[in-house]
Amino acid sequence: MSTPYIGRLAPSPTGLLHLGHARTFWVAAERARAAGGRLLLRNDDLDRARCRSEFVSAMQEDLRWLGLDWDGAMLAQSTRFDRYRAALRQLHAAGALFACTRSRRDVLEAAGAPHEGGVDDEPVYPREFRPRVDTPLPPLDTPGVNWRFRVPDGEPLRFTDGAAGEQRAIAGRDFGDFIVWRRDDTPSYQLATTVDDGEFGVTEVVRGEDLIRSTFRQLLLFRALGLPAPAFFHTPLVLDAAGHRLAKRHDALALRTLREQGVSPAALREQFSRELTPLVSRPLP
Ligand code: GLU
Repeated sequence: MSTPYIGRLAPSPTGLLHLGHARTFWVAAERARAAGGRLLLRNDDLDRARCRSEFVSAMQEDLRWLGLDWDGAMLAQSTRFDRYRAALRQLHAAGALFACTRSRRDVLEAAGAPHEGGVDDEPVYPREFRPRVDTPLPPLDTPGVNWRFRVPDGEPLRFTDGAAGEQRAIAGRDFGDFIVWRRDDTPSYQLATTVDDGEFGVTEVVRGEDLIRSTFRQLLLFRALGLPAPAFFHTPLVLDAAGHRLAKRHDALALRTLREQGVSPAALREQFSRELTPLVSRPLP
């Protein structure tokens, strides 16, 4: 028998959920249902400056309003620091990291073209900033350091996305050495999501296609940590009337607003089902 399907919804409580989240989460829920699997709810609340508790209750309420349900209690990333720290130690012991003392501004200025991706997308880290492989690593408690994962320069990477098809990237060219632990002593999204998806046994990650480049980073982390990597299913983003992707500032399309305007959850689900059934019906992993 194959492994039972485990999916997850992973909203960040930095604003209200909008129509784009609703579509992606609906797809995730439908795939878990079609597979007869489980769906977890993860609260991505690591960004202390931007996460707010009122958005945590709002997101659960909005998901329920939409008719989406999840299995078990919601899991907050802020309660899993020990697990992320253990992964950091493992990467440090394996020599997979280096200590970076450059400011964000130094990196942005030297790197040139900014990347336009989802959470924690970063410009390619300038090669001249990278310490030599044989440089001894300072201890993990060194203050003022961002810990970066040293990517295997020039390695071609590929994965087959269940929705977006064949994906390829070259490490060190399409993305560079990325942050796994910040100088303010918090894990990055890349590290936390990899540890969680790996340790919770997630079998398929359904999320927006702005995260495709991050998936290559995460695949390198799964490999370095010896964790099983899930399958990936990246859904097309919703664009506003001007062709820009929806952000949390698009309050006009927040589920709250739609609800206040009298839009019914059944009507939304029907619309999703009309538009997205061909996507949802792609083969399960
Ligand atoms: N919290 C992340 C976001 O809202 C989740 C990304 C993911 O699904 O891995 O973009």
